Amino acid sequence: MNAKELEKELLWEAPHIAKKAPDQRELAEQFCEGYKEFLNEGKTERECVKKAISLLEKAGYTRFDAGKGYKPGDKIYWNNRGKALVASTIGTAPLSEGIRMNGAHIDSPRLDLKPNPLFEKGEIAYFKPHYYGGVRKYQWGAVPLAMHGVVVKKDGETVEISLGEKEGEPQFCITDLLPHLASEQNTRKLSEGLKGEELNIVVGSIPYMDGEDEKIKTPVKLLAMKLLNERYGMTEKDFTSAEIEMVPAVKAVDIGLDRGLIGAYGQDDRVCAYTALMAEMENASPVYTTLTILADKEEVGSVGNTGLNSDFVLHIVEDLAENQKAVLRTVLRNSICLSSDVNAAYDPTFASVYEERNSCYINKGCVLTKYTGSRGKSGSSDASAETMAKVIQIMEENGVFWQTGELGAVDAGGGGTIALLVARMDVDVVDLGVPILSMHSPFELASKLDVYNTYRAFAAFYQGR
Ligand code: MN
Ligand code: MN
Repeated sequence: MNAKELEKELLWEAPHIAKKAPDQRELAEQFCEGYKEFLNEGKTERECVKKAISLLEKAGYTRFDAGKGYKPGDKIYWNNRGKALVASTIGTAPLSEGIRMNGAHIDSPRLDLKPNPLFEKGEIAYFKPHYYGGVRKYQWGAVPLAMHGVVVKKDGETVEISLGEKEGEPQFCITDLLPHLASEQNTRKLSEGLKGEELNIVVGSIPYMDGEDEKIKTPVKLLAMKLLNERYGMTEKDFTSAEIEMVPAVKAVDIGLDRGLIGAYGQDDRVCAYTALMAEMENASPVYTTLTILADKEEVGSVGNTGLNSDFVLHIVEDLAENQKAVLRTVLRNSICLSSDVNAAYDPTFASVYEERNSCYINKGCVLTKYTGSRGKSGSSDASAETMAKVIQIMEENGVFWQTGELGAVDAGGGGTIALLVARMDVDVVDLGVPILSMHSPFELASKLDVYNTYRAFAAFYQGR
């Protein structure tokens, strides 16, 4: 055997997909049109749930009903408080043989309004936010923002807010200093480039006038509140029973002359949510029952009853077990789950925080991540060799382009996913997702070929024996 043959036989490197399978470019292109639409319509976890339910119902899913007996091929969903969603297709194998689970999250880093957010200073009206999840605060200044969320008013009515997305609607913005006057600010650490209490969002600049303006202390704030009242029927007090999220007012677009990438807000982790949902919906008759989980609160530690630290998924598996007359713990023990989340793509500009051989790269396919965590794998679930082998086999049998990747070099930082929370239920689990550039920024980048192959990985996982 010559060296070239031996190299092919013994060594391994994930290829650029466009070199190996150029025909996938067109397929990825087509698949990602729906993905971009999903990103534009789902800027918050609530909007993603709403959009997902409309897609699921069109595909024949109905809300789970404990009184009904479900048979193979039946499609059902559970809506957890409008902020998390689980969809399932009943398999032909008995439930006791286990479930094919797939958990993505639909919350993304953003700026949440504080419970008492509206104020006026220097004749400008502002919103005060408290940032949600890991944001680099300096990235959020001088960027157009849109307002999304819900207000539950005193009379009990819930009003949905989405302002700043449609053509012609007003938007909002955090100011930053001009370079001419930034000499002091420039000496700050980057993490304090904009401080938490400097993220003041401009919402108005015109005072409310009735000819006796001297009596009013904050006429600009008053006009802003009046305009909110006209739009949504709310008063200042109603902010305390609201969840309002300020997100980048940008649409998903193609990036690069070759259109190989998608630039958008919130791809972590709506990219896995969308691909999982598509694979779930088109699966007519799986062997194993599927469970597609779109969770909330991952970016703040999966806390709360819509996050995976709660037992809501366990209760849903219990619903299924009772319905199919299976023993819950047997079902869990035999189940396998993909913890579907993004990973940090190697960025040549910032090469020093990556370890080249164990980073994931754009355009090399979905990334299988054995462990996350930091400082010696702390906070990681660390998938077993057996679980890795099982998932790899499913992907290889179906010609899915995949790679492996670690979140940055050892001790460069780290992060976590929902994997350890799934493992706590006695389920085998491993992380799989899409490599992302500029993760957690207002405008993240992902490769269309990677998105498409992540979808193919999920489809193979749901269909596999
Ligand atoms: Mn994520
Ligand atoms: Mn994240």
